[in-house]
Amino acid sequence: MSAPTADRTLVLVKPDGVARGLVGQVITRLEAKGLRLVAAELRTLTAEVAEEHYGEHRERPFFGSLVEFITGGPLLALVVEGPRAIEAFRALAGATDPVKAAPGTIRGDFALEVQNNIVHGSDSPESAAREIALFFPGLG
Ligand code: ADP
Ligand code: MG
Repeated sequence: MSAPTADRTLVLVKPDGVARGLVGQVITRLEAKGLRLVAAELRTLTAEVAEEHYGEHRERPFFGSLVEFITGGPLLALVVEGPRAIEAFRALAGATDPVKAAPGTIRGDFALEVQNNIVHGSDSPESAAREIALFFPGLG
C-alpha cells in the first residue's frame, strides 16, 4: 500500500481568533485530525498583503471592511500538511457563515458573525499554492 500524498494548505487564525485566545483550540483540532504543521508565524498583515490574499473579493461590498478586519491585529499564519489537507481543514472550519456552520466545527462552535469567523483555509490547490507563496515565500 502506498502512502497517501500529502497536500498543503494555508490556514489563518484570524485576528478575532488570536484576540479571543482560540489559537490553541484551532491547532489542537487540526493536529487531532492528523494534519501536521509545516510553518507558523504570528504577524500583522499590511493592507497590500491583505488585498492580495483576498483579491478574488475585491469587487464585493464587504471588501474594505474585510481588509480592515484582517489587518486589525496579529493573526497566526500556518502551513498545514496531510492527505487532502485543503478539504480536511475546510471541513474542520465549517461553513463561512458561523450561524450556518455545523456545531462541532470551528466556526460553528466559536463564532456568530460572517466576517469574524475565526479561521481561513485555502479553497483549492491553486489557491493554496498562491496563498502559501504569498505568506511563506521561502517555503519549497
Ligand atoms: P471562506 O473564508 O469560507 O472561503 P469566502 O471566501 O466567501 O469564505 O469569504 C472570505 C472571507 O470574507 C470570509 O471568511 C469572511 O471573513 C468574509 N466574508 C464573506 N462573506 C462576507 C459577508 N457577506 N459579509 C462580511 N464578510 C464576509
Ligand atoms: Mg474563500
